[in-house]
Amino acid sequence: MIARVSLEIALRKEFDYSIPPELAGQIEVGTRVQVPFGSSGARKIFGTVTALAEESSLAKLKPILKIIGAQSLVTPKVLKLARWIGEYYCCAPETALKSVLPEAIRKEKEGWKKQLFVRALPLSGEFPKLAKRQQEVWNIIEERREILLAELLELAETTAATVRKLEDRGLIEVTSEISERDPYARETILPTQNIVLNSAQAKALGEITKAMDAENSSHTFLLHGVTGSGKTEIYLQALAHALEQGKGAIVLVPEISLTPQTVERFKARFSSGKLQTLVAVLHSHLSAGERHDEWHKIRQGRARILIGARSAIFAPVEPLGLIIVDEEHETSYKQEEAPRYHARDVAIMRGQMENAVVVLGSATPSLESFYNCKRGKFTLLELPERVDNQKMPRVRVVDMRQAATKEKGTPLFSPQLKEAINQRLDKGEQTILFLNRRGYSTSLQCPKCGYVCNCPNCSLALTFHRQEQKLACHICGHVEKVPLVCPNEKCRNPAIRFSGTGTQKVEETLAKLFPKARIKRMDADTMKRKDDYRKVLGDFRAGRTDILVGTQMIAKGLHFPNVTLVGIIYADLALHQPDFRAGERTFQLLTQVAGRAGRGDIEGEVFVQAFTPFHPSIQFARRHDFVGFYEQELEFREQLKYPPYSRVAMLTLKGRNEEKVKFSAEHLRKVIESKVQGLKSKVIESGTTLDLIIAGPAPAPLLKAETFYRYQIMLRTQRMSALSQRLAEIIQTLSLPEDVSLAVDIDPVSLS
Ligand code: ADP
Ligand code: ZN
Repeated sequence: MIARVSLEIALRKEFDYSIPPELAGQIEVGTRVQVPFGSSGARKIFGTVTALAEESSLAKLKPILKIIGAQSLVTPKVLKLARWIGEYYCCAPETALKSVLPEAIRKEKEGWKKQLFVRALPLSGEFPKLAKRQQEVWNIIEERREILLAELLELAETTAATVRKLEDRGLIEVTSEISERDPYARETILPTQNIVLNSAQAKALGEITKAMDAENSSHTFLLHGVTGSGKTEIYLQALAHALEQGKGAIVLVPEISLTPQTVERFKARFSSGKLQTLVAVLHSHLSAGERHDEWHKIRQGRARILIGARSAIFAPVEPLGLIIVDEEHETSYKQEEAPRYHARDVAIMRGQMENAVVVLGSATPSLESFYNCKRGKFTLLELPERVDNQKMPRVRVVDMRQAATKEKGTPLFSPQLKEAINQRLDKGEQTILFLNRRGYSTSLQCPKCGYVCNCPNCSLALTFHRQEQKLACHICGHVEKVPLVCPNEKCRNPAIRFSGTGTQKVEETLAKLFPKARIKRMDADTMKRKDDYRKVLGDFRAGRTDILVGTQMIAKGLHFPNVTLVGIIYADLALHQPDFRAGERTFQLLTQVAGRAGRGDIEGEVFVQAFTPFHPSIQFARRHDFVGFYEQELEFREQLKYPPYSRVAMLTLKGRNEEKVKFSAEHLRKVIESKVQGLKSKVIESGTTLDLIIAGPAPAPLLKAETFYRYQIMLRTQRMSALSQRLAEIIQTLSLPEDVSLAVDIDPVSLS
């Protein structure tokens, strides 16, 4: 017997190894192994067995050194999924395979945690006479019957030696056992029961469970409903149905919404009753050890539901009945390094491969998913109203061009918004102010010569941070001192000025306008530690804060009944991005932020300050007209052949020498053009036509980032699988200068 192994080095090649007698019978497809590599065999490399065979075409094989983990770690189904990722996202299969296991598991960095337990033994014969200290320790053990040694030592304020004496007397035993790490051990979780669904919810759940019961149950649903319309309750009841069928499930949520409260809702429902099961959790705040334990609970089948961020889609849940992707429009589902997969799209593919039902949920679905419903690929389920029958907030758009005055220019707050904030302060209600840009001023510019302080590494203006009195780059993190005079040697104007606005400035201006208001700010600068987030939100919830200012961090899923006013300071900020999705993003963001208002008994009000108040993204969001926006946006995309009417492959070349990068990009375009002819004929043979549109090379919107110049070629086609395949061939034979690299991003979510 020999094993074929995919090594963790991107060689796009698998290698044969012999199975030594001591490992015979322990190796199967998916087993993680360590093998020798290189001519001397001195390097040891991790890999995954992808196939077993009787013999190899090669004569002398090196033996597998050892096995990682007790069970095969990559199940055949996950292996198949990884292969698809390698092909579709145009990356080396080794790179794809690497991403399906958490690092803690892949490298066997962590194992089960063993701890010493002390246990009382059944007494045989006379109870011995003990010294006073020993007796005290025994009393505790007798009462608890079983206790962690460490806990006992602390509780009894004693030493291991004293405990060992009890062991010598035959009263107790001390054993080393696995103790599972439970990241949520400190939370008290009160069990919850199913809620009686309203008719829209019942209809949606009915369709989902019907699909789950069907013979061929691979089916994708898009559950569209505003926040508070009861989507999570549907997820919970669909999960219960999967458990009843004897199947498991994966719930994906964006990393930022994986708060203890979210996790608790899922744990609480399955913490008691006949469908009781362990709910495992995977996200980036877990320690390596916790991740190891959570993952293995799933692998062993003891936990049947996994809730996690992006990479949880690869968890070995088997059999898999249901995948839920909450907030499916979130761009954080896309991994921004190879393999550049989109977890929502991987979920849909996995659902098809494993005959599982996929439910995508959102208040503001992606245009792609909406389109897939229109053409019958997905089924649209709508929850048109909030569970509590609350009205959507009233949205007012303020034209900031009219708020500007000759003397003072444009104010940060329009008179209307100022008045509204004042009213809330008087009534003791709360306000959220949103601006998707942190810092104080966006740039430092000389009014005389026009000089702007740019980052030396990136083609981007530095942002002024007033509290720290620093200029910072939001791309690479470069920080420098604020110049006292214009840095332009020919100018040296001392009146260099700051322009543009960030959250810091909003906070400061507010404090001046409303000196009595209690104001807190929430953005990447103030949320440095995990606990900051909890604290600020806790204070706000408890009513210790009147106004919360923040970036998109506050746009998501928070529920505060006393918030009756939401102000969006600069709504067109996201509109002016060089990205065909700018309109969609703006619509989604405005809708999400507006959803923060009026979650309690009082109707909410939203002020949207904008310089282009009549832009469709703003107007449709104002009317809460989801379908209206999507229909017109689809028209625009169709005209220009942008997704969802095509799929995009973005090729980015980068290097420190701009000329070389540009030249390489032009060369790559020529290579693609010459090979496309072949691709076209190949596709035509199979009866379909290939519609390739090549744009570029052009400088990336952010030409220079972290000292690298970037040029891009954008390819659009409806036949991405065919194109990916050909691109992989091109990349393998392409020769680029040593200091120029190429990244391929299939279905990119951001075009910077
Ligand atoms: P979403 O996930 O769409 O934001 P949730 O499922 O969280 O909505 O529901 C919002 C609130 O309403 C939750 O507190 C939930 O427990 C409650 N809820 C959901 N469905 C019902 C229902 N049918 N009847 C009463 N309360 C419900
Ligand atoms: Zn920079």
